[in-house]
Amino acid sequence: MTAIGHAGHSTRRRFGQNFLVDPHYVERIVDAISPQPGDQLVEIGPGLAALTRSLIERAHHITAVEIDRDLAARLATDFPPERLTLIVADALAFDFSTLQPALRIVGNLPYNISSPLLFHIAQYEARVRDVHVMLQREVVARMTAQPATPDYGRLSVMLQVRFAITRLFTVPPGAFRPIPKIDSALARLVPLRDAKPLIADEALFARIVAAAFGQRRKTLRNALSGICDEPALRGAGIDPGARGETLAVTDFVRLGNRLSQR
Ligand code: SAM
Repeated sequence: MTAIGHAGHSTRRRFGQNFLVDPHYVERIVDAISPQPGDQLVEIGPGLAALTRSLIERAHHITAVEIDRDLAARLATDFPPERLTLIVADALAFDFSTLQPALRIVGNLPYNISSPLLFHIAQYEARVRDVHVMLQREVVARMTAQPATPDYGRLSVMLQVRFAITRLFTVPPGAFRPIPKIDSALARLVPLRDAKPLIADEALFARIVAAAFGQRRKTLRNALSGICDEPALRGAGIDPGARGETLAVTDFVRLGNRLSQR
């Protein structure tokens, strides 16, 4: 492999900087995204532009959100504004609704903030066409996990209620510099749109899911005691003696909607 260079930049661990340097994986990832001219591509954390360059070649223009000012300065020198709209910001605090809808969100995400970033992106699901993110392999396993498996949890429910999620392929540590201690995987998230279950009260739903998985060993009777009582659980067809990890996404929706009527 002819590695993509990252000369002159001292990597910042606090920003989760592991740069993709293997052109084979850059091509596979960008092929999976299949960018087209006119797409509203927004890249989180362009870094040294391994993906950015190829995305711009195919889509002609993209928007990118980068927190590291030094990297942003390099990007601004390397790409003219008609090719790259650069936003120097923390993606966790960035309001994606300021961008044109039909967003195609892309990123080799900083691993240290991947879950909060996924929750943040999930809020904008109505404006999103699709999301392609590279994450720690274990995080992708949690995103796609089914009930009653060890990986099933809050992340699985909160994402699966909004998106169809596919694990596309894994990427080995050697494809990055510095070399991380973890395997990575590319995931695709596509909003469910009309197939999305109706959630009467999003905040209440989020609270129930967080409480149900807050202490995994607890029964729902105990885990949800601050939110509802046993008759309410039974009324929603849920066994108070069960654990949160046994409930399907649709069970959480049914419970939330029933409680929202009270
Ligand atoms: N996309 C590049 C690649 O594939 O080589 C870099 C990936 S590196 C894993 C993560 C990138 O996200 C870095 O450029 C880092 O500075 C940036 N980053 C870290 N935290 C961020 C945040 N909160 N908001 C925006 N960018 C962030």
